[in-house]
Amino acid sequence: MIPFVDLKLQYRSIKDDVDAAVLQVFENASFVLGPEVAEFERLFADYVNVEHAVAVNSGTSALHLAMLAADLGPGDEVITTPMTFIATVSAIDYAGATPVFVDIDPDTLNIDHTRIEAAITPATKAIVPVHLHGLPADLDPLLEIAERHGLTVIEDAAQSHGAEYRGRRVGGIARIGCFSFYPGKNLGAYGEGGAVVTNDPDIAHKVSMLRDWGSEQRYHHDLKGFNYRMEGVQGAVLRVKMAHIENWTENRRRLAARYDELLRPLGYRTPAAPADLRHVYHVYAIRTTKREEIQAFLSEREIASGIHYPIPVHLQKAFAELGHTRGDFPLTEAASDEVLSLPMFPEMTNDQQDVVVAALTEWAETKGAD
Ligand SMILES: *Cc1c(COP(=O)(O)O)cnc(C)c1O
Repeated sequence: MIPFVDLKLQYRSIKDDVDAAVLQVFENASFVLGPEVAEFERLFADYVNVEHAVAVNSGTSALHLAMLAADLGPGDEVITTPMTFIATVSAIDYAGATPVFVDIDPDTLNIDHTRIEAAITPATKAIVPVHLHGLPADLDPLLEIAERHGLTVIEDAAQSHGAEYRGRRVGGIARIGCFSFYPGKNLGAYGEGGAVVTNDPDIAHKVSMLRDWGSEQRYHHDLKGFNYRMEGVQGAVLRVKMAHIENWTENRRRLAARYDELLRPLGYRTPAAPADLRHVYHVYAIRTTKREEIQAFLSEREIASGIHYPIPVHLQKAFAELGHTRGDFPLTEAASDEVLSLPMFPEMTNDQQDVVVAALTEWAETKGAD
């Protein structure tokens, strides 16, 4: 059996440090926020190369507070990609703003900056690019458009811890960046977690108030806030994991290069990885018109795989109110029909990867890769 990810194996590799850090949280009774969370915030801000990281209880909360800190609300339009996890769009909706979709670049699967200007109206206030699968969106032209139209850019970096755009860590490039530490993400807590990162002290201040009932001083509520605080246990786990994130990321990149090298000659469409970007392969997705058949074939051979994501957000029933139908964003729809995510986790061995490649080789030789 080749799993999609192996979180138990990763725990065993850091068990002593994690156990000690978590027990310390119990000893100190620092269950919510506290010193471990503060230390993690400091390490994570350094890692992303920003002044401030504010830890919250999920990536979705990070996005929600980023929207509020940027003063987005009813009547405002926020441009984003339909090729994302639903949370990107839900956060815009939580703030009361209206999501406006722009189709993707079919090579990178990220928002196509050349289509953004056509979607801008007098109500447009922000753009939320998503660094899908761990590949940075093309930020320089996007930031230039935002600057010209006076729009805030909020990076959804939930899948891209440590990814780099032309030498700069994503999340810290635009005005605000949001991360998720859901267990399966490249940097995962042992429960839910997220963070907002920024170089803007006013944004950091507002987010840190909003996550804690809009207060700086207990029982003095200056803003209508939320209970979005990070738990001490999650801060402890994430603090310990910071010592390993680069190593894990390099393993992902090595495995991805090996998949590329072995799968391309067979005719598979492997993910784009432009030379000036550091892709961190949260997901390693090939594209194929025979996805369902290949997935069933892999599953027969006890090889796990995934689809990220089978239904683009504009076609989700939950957002039917936006009035979209199939055909509105054809490049996203085609990609959603064709992406197939292969097993990818830092602890994966070459032997495990060879089992996946052998199955795909057999498929390509008998049925053809596409
Ligand atoms: C995981 C994810 C989120 C939401 O993060 P949670 O921690 O699960 O709330 C948001 N956006 C993207 C692109 C994600 O992958």
